[in-house]
Amino acid sequence: MEAARDLDNLVERLGLHSRPLRERLDFLQWQTVDAQRLVSLAEAGELVSQDFVDLLYQHLGQFGETADFLRDSLTVSRLKRQQLDYYKRLFQGEIDESYVRERLQIGHVHERIGIELKWYLGGYRLFLSEMLQALFTSADKADPSRIAEFDSLLKRVFFDMTLAAEAYVDAKQSALRESEKRFAHALRGANDGIWEWDLQSGHWYASERWANMLDLQVNEVGNRVDDWLARVHPDDIDALRYAIDGHISGRVPWLQHEYRIRRRSGDFLWVLVRGVLETDAHGHQRLAGSQTDISERQRISSKLEYAARHDALTGLFNRGQLNQVLLDSIDLLQRPGARHAALLFIDLDRFKVINDSLGHAVGDQVLVMVADRLRAGLRQGDHLARFGGDEFVMLLNDLANPVDAEQVAERVLHKLREPLCFDQRCLVVNASIGIAPLTPGQGLQDALQAADIALYAAKADGKARYMRYSQGMQEQAHERLLIESNVLQALQLDQFELDYQPVFDMSRQARSSPVACEVLLRWRHGDQRMPPGAFIPVLEESGEIIPVGYWILQQACRQARLWQLTRNPRFCCSVNLSGVQLKQADFCQRLHDILQQTGLPPENLVLEITESVLLDQVGQTLANLHEISAMGVMLALDDFGTGYCSLAYLNRFPLDIIKLDRGFLHEAHANQRQATICRSIISLGRDLGMKIVAEGIETSRQVEFLLQEGCCLGQGFLLGRPMSVVDMQRLWLEEVSDGG
Ligand code: C2E
Ligand code: MG
Ligand code: MG
Repeated sequence: MEAARDLDNLVERLGLHSRPLRERLDFLQWQTVDAQRLVSLAEAGELVSQDFVDLLYQHLGQFGETADFLRDSLTVSRLKRQQLDYYKRLFQGEIDESYVRERLQIGHVHERIGIELKWYLGGYRLFLSEMLQALFTSADKADPSRIAEFDSLLKRVFFDMTLAAEAYVDAKQSALRESEKRFAHALRGANDGIWEWDLQSGHWYASERWANMLDLQVNEVGNRVDDWLARVHPDDIDALRYAIDGHISGRVPWLQHEYRIRRRSGDFLWVLVRGVLETDAHGHQRLAGSQTDISERQRISSKLEYAARHDALTGLFNRGQLNQVLLDSIDLLQRPGARHAALLFIDLDRFKVINDSLGHAVGDQVLVMVADRLRAGLRQGDHLARFGGDEFVMLLNDLANPVDAEQVAERVLHKLREPLCFDQRCLVVNASIGIAPLTPGQGLQDALQAADIALYAAKADGKARYMRYSQGMQEQAHERLLIESNVLQALQLDQFELDYQPVFDMSRQARSSPVACEVLLRWRHGDQRMPPGAFIPVLEESGEIIPVGYWILQQACRQARLWQLTRNPRFCCSVNLSGVQLKQADFCQRLHDILQQTGLPPENLVLEITESVLLDQVGQTLANLHEISAMGVMLALDDFGTGYCSLAYLNRFPLDIIKLDRGFLHEAHANQRQATICRSIISLGRDLGMKIVAEGIETSRQVEFLLQEGCCLGQGFLLGRPMSVVDMQRLWLEEVSDGG
């Protein structure tokens, strides 16, 4: 079926339908009489061909290539039979289309099985020679009718030979067409576009796929090389031209280059162009090659590149990229006429509390919102990076005046102060900022360190503010480093001391004796007495707070018991605990031992914890809290209201005392809102059956306010600063002498 269709196509291609066939025969001067002559020759022809076939195959057998086809005798006799049939057919009448088809088919088959045309046509020559001899050997040599007959045979044979040749050529072309088809298929499979550029004429050709890649039709892409180049992204054109020139000039062995090209929509597609130059015998040059869509690869690699330079959470520059832009800025400062640049090191105040009390998901949300706010205020040419955790760094370039950085810092603080509201929650986040001007030729680390030192100073100065770096700060930082490296030996060197801050029942007459005290740690370092804020974090981080903590408990309980025995048998003592201490599995055992040794009744010891301690609800902490409570020791929640602790915690934990943070009290007598908060905390505690101790009382108006609200217990500078044992003892003496 398919073979018949192929043959139809072949007849069509060679123009062998009746009309063109007629023309062809006319050209050979083939006439009816020729057919008749051959019919009259048929008998002689058949005789000759019978002998000739044997001769032919014998002859063919003498040549290596043809002999190969004739190895087995069965094939040979089949071929001989077919050959004889053909010779018979040669002398039989008219040439028509069916004859043509038969000849063409045989020609095709011969080509396919690999018999070359030269053997095929050579066979005709042999046959004609045989016929020539047969026809002209007898007396009638000069018989003109013989010549005519032979001439007819020649016509016929030439006709057949032509067909054979054409069938061969066609078979070859078909093979070529097949291979081209396969090649085109492969190209479609590779999904590449093809292009060719004639360097002499400037003609340029692009394939359909090339055009389709850009959402265009082939007739829309133009046919000059400039039509191509005009579509190239302006930022990429120079590099592409350079790559093309590089190959044409022989600098690189082929063209291979990635660039962006405009699509119909106007946006750009990343492509890879590849090509090679070919010079023909006449020196004519053509550059041709492919074009591959690499947008997907480019998208992934630019994503990776982006990820390598940015912080995943906020999308801001990361530390590595900050270093890069910072180096550039420092470099720029060295150019003549350069303006100023500064670094802002921004750190959120008490962010750890948000993270600990509301969870990391909320913490992340806060960071993202803060990043957005910071970014919104950024000027062109400035940069913002997330340095880590809750630290951000802003790089301000091209400042007219170094003090301009302070205005920016002011703006940042102002912006951050507005409440962050999300998920029905509003938080106020403050930040501290360290400012450091960049200096030409400065080292990267020096610049960051200066800003970090200034940040530390801002934190130490009370947070929620900015500080500009100064040389003095550098010295302080150095000092701090010294502290950090020395405090770990302080216990061994017996450098710790305790201060006691008295707690009073304010409802009693003025100048009454203390009912309790809070124990506060001090470190004697050189000729200084260090407040705990400066070194407790170091102790906590290193775990050294654990032995130090037991030492404090031991000292405090012993001292309190002494005062019970000598002054007030119901005197209480408050000791601050760090979260790390409560994580110890043997904490309660040690506490029990200390109480036993010192003889202080458990109910006269108060352990103060902060809200963040309560967040460790599953671990050892919770078990310890319950055990402490079961022992009869009191638990106080220190700095109440400054964390982000849920009120539900008050119920969930065995708490006895709330310490009202001085931050609330500060303005309570003057500020209605503050007063309301204080009032609520006091009544909340009372309703839950807890005691309230007010902290940081500094004025008598605060005392009045507290008493009015029914809060009688308090401590603060007004009533008594943290003091030594000796000074504490004086409080009772004063009372004794006053009272006496
Ligand atoms: P805290 O437990 O809230 O202690 C009260 C702090 O407020 C003390 O600061 C005290 O000196 C200060 N203070 C008391 N009255 C007033 C006042 O009227 N006005 C003002 N402005 N401040 C007042 P200090 O001694 O610097 O202690 C700071 C924090 O260090 C303590 O806060 C506590 O959290 C921690 N800390 C102190 N001693 C220890 C300790 O032995 N162990 C542990 N783990 N932490 C301690
Ligand atoms: Mg305390
Ligand atoms: Mg406190």
